[in-house]
Amino acid sequence: MELLPDFTVQYPDTIEAAARLLAGKVESRLLAGGTDLVTNLRRGIGNPVLLVSLDHVKGLSSIVADGDALRIGAGVTLARLVSDADVGLRFPVLAAAAAMVAGPAHRSVATLGGNLCLDTRCVYYNQSEGWRRSVGYCMKYRGEICHVAPQGKRCHAVFSGDLAPVLLVLGAEAEIAGPAGARRVPLDALYRDDGAQHLALERGELLAAVRVRQGRPALLAAYRKARVRGAIDFPLAGVAVALEIEQGRVRELRVALTGTNPRPLLLAGTEELRGQAPDQALLDKLMKLVQRQASPQRTTVTASNYRRQAAAAIAARLLSELAASG
Ligand code: FAD
Repeated sequence: MELLPDFTVQYPDTIEAAARLLAGKVESRLLAGGTDLVTNLRRGIGNPVLLVSLDHVKGLSSIVADGDALRIGAGVTLARLVSDADVGLRFPVLAAAAAMVAGPAHRSVATLGGNLCLDTRCVYYNQSEGWRRSVGYCMKYRGEICHVAPQGKRCHAVFSGDLAPVLLVLGAEAEIAGPAGARRVPLDALYRDDGAQHLALERGELLAAVRVRQGRPALLAAYRKARVRGAIDFPLAGVAVALEIEQGRVRELRVALTGTNPRPLLLAGTEELRGQAPDQALLDKLMKLVQRQASPQRTTVTASNYRRQAAAAIAARLLSELAASG
């Protein structure tokens, strides 16, 4: 590990002031719980002059019920998501997924915003400065090429946050604040398919909150991930499924992946599976959709094809379990 770079930390108390600081001239980074950011800085990744802490920003750590929706501030900790009564009652899948992130000490400071804006990961990137220098820097930081696919022109680092797929299948919206004001977009629009620049945020913008609306009572959802260490680890492949069965047939099916692509991926084509019985033929079709759209590369020490097959198998299992429980 390296010494931390020589930065200052500022503690704005409004979201507007935080956005102004971020939009300023010096190289800055937003600091939430710091469980990912500080780890990367200790590896010599990034050299910010200014860290803009969200600790004192008012209103960022609240969970507010608004009719059938919950507005969850970006500063809400994962430990709170796990234990909050409203979240547990309305979106048990979100509480369950939050409980799968990292370890209890991380979750006590790690935030929803940090999890959704988590930097992408790669075996050539999440390494010490000395390791990266000796292998040759990669295009995600300081270098020119992607060691995963040296002939290509894009970075294949992977998004590995656990909460994004869950919120995608729940149809959540992202509230984004910035120098030009606030805007609300479907959560899917927060992401780009580029491992080097995976967030569609303009300079000075930050995630303020997510809004998630309760679906019909019959809509059931679940999340599961394959990981190397069961107690604490990022997903090698994580899958969220939301399913509604009506009179023995699929009325609604949404599936999202993490750990396989540079962005959390809301699977395309699941609407074509509506109206079908949740039988083996449907599971086979779903597995094909996952296999076609998941694009794991050599970004972990686990084989890409294993991660693709694991994603497909988890999706099929979750669908059949949800169908049986409904
Ligand atoms: P920070 O580290 O503060 O920030 C992360 C990134 O998001 C930074 O780039 C920061 O600038 C940006 N950011 C933070 N808040 C905002 C905002 N409101 N708007 C815009 N950008 C923002 N994560 C998982 O998902 N699953 C795991 O299993 C997992 N396991 C881990 C295990 C270990 C040992 C460690 C060290 C980390 C692990 N993590 C895991 C990563 C991390 O702990 C979590 O994703 C956590 O939720 C990050 O939140 P944070 O508040 O600490 O983010």
